[in-house]
Amino acid sequence: MPTVGNEEERIFYLTQVEIHTAFTPALQALIRAQEAVQNDDPYALEQELQLMINAFFSISELVLQQIDPNPYSKTYVDQVIWAKTVAPFAVPVVPNRPGPSGTASPVFHLMDAFLSRPRYDAVLGHEANKLADLSPRHWRDFIAAVRQISIRDYIFSTNKASLKGTFDTLLEAYAGDKGYLGAHRLKAHGFLEIAFKAGRSVTIGGFKGLFREKTWKQIDSELSLTRQERYLGLPQHYDIVRPSSGQLISQGDRNWIGMIQLKIQGQGIFYRAGDRCGILPENSDALIRETLNALQAQGIEQVALNQQWQYAIQLRAGYAGERHYLSIEELLRFGKIRPLTREMARMLYRITRADALRQLLEAQLEDQLELWDALRLIGAAGFDTRRFWKADSWDEENLCHLIPPETYRPYSIASATNADESLHLTITGLDYTSPGSLGSAIVPAKPRHGTASSFIRRLIEHPEANPEVSVRIVPAPRFHLPEDAARPIVMVAAGSGIAPFLGFLQAREVQPEAGENWLFYGTQTTSELFRHPEIHSMVTSGRLALRVAFSQEDSHLVFKDGAFLTEPGQRAHIDKRLDEEAEILWQLIRPVAYGGREAYFYICGRAHFANTVTEAFKKVIRRYTQDDDQAQQLFYRLVADRRYLLDVFTTYSGPASAVKQTFDASEVVLHDNESAGYWMVLSGKVYDLTEFVNLHPGGKRILANNMGIDATGAYHAVLHHARPEVDSLLGLYEIGAIRRLQFGNSWAVGIGPNGLFYFTLEEAFTTWVRALYLVTEMENAIRSDFDFFARATTRDELHGELTPLKIHLAVEAHKRFLSTFLAGFLDEEVQTLWAVTTGLFDKQVSIQAMRREIDRIASLRAATLVHESSEAVQNAIEALKISTGMARQTWFQVLGGWCQRIRVANVECFTNLKMAVREGVQCFEQYEGQTMRHGYEPLMLAMNHITTAIETYYIALSATLEPLLKQIGQPVGPTPQDHPQEMLTTLLGHGSRIDVGDITGDTFTHSEVLFLDEQ
Ligand SMILES: Cc1cc2nc3c(=O)[nH]c(=O)nc-3n(C[C@H](O)[C@H](O)[C@H](O)COP(=O)(O)OP(=O)(O)OC[C@H]3O[C@@H](n4cnc5c(N)ncnc54)[C@H](O)[C@@H]3O)c2cc1C
Repeated sequence: MPTVGNEEERIFYLTQVEIHTAFTPALQALIRAQEAVQNDDPYALEQELQLMINAFFSISELVLQQIDPNPYSKTYVDQVIWAKTVAPFAVPVVPNRPGPSGTASPVFHLMDAFLSRPRYDAVLGHEANKLADLSPRHWRDFIAAVRQISIRDYIFSTNKASLKGTFDTLLEAYAGDKGYLGAHRLKAHGFLEIAFKAGRSVTIGGFKGLFREKTWKQIDSELSLTRQERYLGLPQHYDIVRPSSGQLISQGDRNWIGMIQLKIQGQGIFYRAGDRCGILPENSDALIRETLNALQAQGIEQVALNQQWQYAIQLRAGYAGERHYLSIEELLRFGKIRPLTREMARMLYRITRADALRQLLEAQLEDQLELWDALRLIGAAGFDTRRFWKADSWDEENLCHLIPPETYRPYSIASATNADESLHLTITGLDYTSPGSLGSAIVPAKPRHGTASSFIRRLIEHPEANPEVSVRIVPAPRFHLPEDAARPIVMVAAGSGIAPFLGFLQAREVQPEAGENWLFYGTQTTSELFRHPEIHSMVTSGRLALRVAFSQEDSHLVFKDGAFLTEPGQRAHIDKRLDEEAEILWQLIRPVAYGGREAYFYICGRAHFANTVTEAFKKVIRRYTQDDDQAQQLFYRLVADRRYLLDVFTTYSGPASAVKQTFDASEVVLHDNESAGYWMVLSGKVYDLTEFVNLHPGGKRILANNMGIDATGAYHAVLHHARPEVDSLLGLYEIGAIRRLQFGNSWAVGIGPNGLFYFTLEEAFTTWVRALYLVTEMENAIRSDFDFFARATTRDELHGELTPLKIHLAVEAHKRFLSTFLAGFLDEEVQTLWAVTTGLFDKQVSIQAMRREIDRIASLRAATLVHESSEAVQNAIEALKISTGMARQTWFQVLGGWCQRIRVANVECFTNLKMAVREGVQCFEQYEGQTMRHGYEPLMLAMNHITTAIETYYIALSATLEPLLKQIGQPVGPTPQDHPQEMLTTLLGHGSRIDVGDITGDTFTHSEVLFLDEQ
């Protein structure tokens, strides 16, 4: 039963219904699974668990994704409209009554019972329990019956590896990072952040709850806690496999390509074509030996493990159970000892103060070394490197603090689902030579080998060793074959990027109904191509159209009499081949509804390759469309339809010192809008995401909210940094790094709310930059808070139509602006900036002066008028709702005018505040270590511009509001109390409408007025 009746509500709640429908096969399988346990039939049980896994993949990857924040999607849910219209109705009207919360879903209650969730201590766990008690009697009885039989206990008692593996996969598909709850958490994060920024002020609970503490993060961590509770009492999930065979396909001057098959028979490992396999690598004997020498250790010495290591070591074959010690040799085998990370280099420098390390850090060349190189430098500087393994476990010097455990490296799986009970990988080796720089004594010119790729090469070359390898399947929620197999697919790859497509081809080969297949393959020479039997057999059977570009051979590929041959030709890159097939590609791109073939496009390789291919596709689209704009829209829609999918490998963009361009924070903050483009800072690097905001699976709004700022925290909150498959996409958009400034050792003393405080010049700069990023984030949030006029908020409403509800939402947004954004910024940030700035300079400036100035501005008549206008408008909405005819039109004009002025002025206020704070930051950027000598006047001027911005805001806005408020004060129609009956019929704006044209533009136009009552 619709409440507001808009698309957001329809898609949001119908998706919940569909989730429950899609769960139905899992429900039936669940019952049969319990029967299998009663019959002591592990094989039947495994099959049922498998059905449940499939149901959860479908729920999290297809059904849930229909709530799509991408504006180009067919099932777009605008997070702002959702937050303002749908979300408030989920809050119970009567306190302590249950609302339609997700935790009430019987899917959760049932699955938790089935998988024997051991704890419900998290807040959401409590809530779920409470709501479960309120569910219908037969649900409760059923769930209680399910609880009687513990699948968990049965599986552990049978001790069958494949059953255990399948159980783990089901748990992952339900509660895992890439499973239903993980996908839900990721989606919820975006919705919650927007809801808290643009939602109702009553739910926000003050400034601190909004920007400092970021309330949505607390809810997000609750979701994470409650997810973890499902895993309690279970050993960590990992798989152990052995290689069955491997081959080196090619050995070039700079790298090699190899293939390896891993035996997965009887392990309960489940994957689909397109998924990735995480490999937990081990370091080579040679590297361990070098490091032992540099540590002056034999290798047998024992090291006490910290918690991180105790947890990580259990993922290794043969290390199950609790471990508190490892030998140094084991620690070096399983630890990250190459390349040297910045964190490790900093830590070593902090401990040893070796000058060579300082030079290395300053030159940002640390990743050209390996740990043993750094230890050598330290030893040469007179530091006894034995201290690292002799130190107590709690000591920072201890090896296990210095060396983190190695992590899984993802490799695209090159085989189809459980084909011949093995899993295939195709690997490009990473071999390079570090450049001799800083005097070769510090960074020697030495050949280096990537950890995981060289580990896999050893597995290929020494099959007799038959070692056990820790692996983990990493599902690729999007990079899969189309649901409808009849759809054509177009695959574009370079080098080992062919990997997932070998899996795709294997899968399509056994699907008689599968549509046509295209493969565009960029490779250096012919040798890499002829090793893949699946390509040969699909081309032979006429089911694969293959186009190859050889980049280092003047050859042309032909297929004659069942064999591949090469003829003399011209070396080329992949974009040339795509261009040659533009006509057919265009047909494949176009939707069926427009006479096209609606194919799915898959691109796999490194970042620059993916960029080249994307540009080539855009060129094709542009050729057949009228203009750039139409071409762009079409491309965005292709992505939103999930028909253009990327699998981008980790791409190294060179050492930080090689960054071609650097940027200052003051420049980054200007790029937070459509016209200036969208930039973001992540871990010191600058990304231009202007194009990506339209492609982001999480939607444009959430990104736009984090633009122009250092969003490392937000990026980490959604764990993108820990997902190489997501992190690697950043390579597509990197444009440079943040310039590093030198502030020397200057320091000062300031007076804050808690008395005197000491701070360095660098900390003063950081305070200003933080304020600059915060004010930018607020500017973004205010923009999005008012960005709803162009959309329909209720049923039967036209896009862009002004309604009483929209005016009411503008009133709420204005109140939030004044109380949460403006007051918060003035009370907290501005006071801190003042304390730090006055502290920097030895001048007689009163610490109270800023407070007094802000109080003076707040007491201006103009400020009172701006504050009180909301109340007047709120009352006028009631009059509008019962007015008719010309009176109604006049009300709309007056109140629409108010909305427009408020929206423009509020955003502008924060843009001006941003520019004022930016002036302060620019002062630090200009003078760096000399800021205390030259910065007094510019910084005081910047502070002055902050208060001027606020005063100007009040004065200018009040001047434009005054005539409107006068009109509001003279009622143009009957008062609401006179017509209670009519008020009811005009609830939420139905019954009257005004088409306001584009209220989101800077000029407010109302082109046409419609009076439904009179029609
Ligand atoms: C989704 C996904 C799928 C992938 N699939 C495949 C696949 O199918 N096949 C495949 O071969 N790879 C694939 N990769 C890449 C793979 O995961 C590894 O990143 C790659 O094998 C290198 O890892 P490594 O351990 O050998 O190198 P590492 O030991 O991690 O060394 C790399 C690091 O060395 C440092 N370094 C210093 N100088 C250089 C330099 N000149 N060049 C490079 N690094 C330098 C850098 O810090 C760099 O990060 C995939 C990656 C992703 C994200």
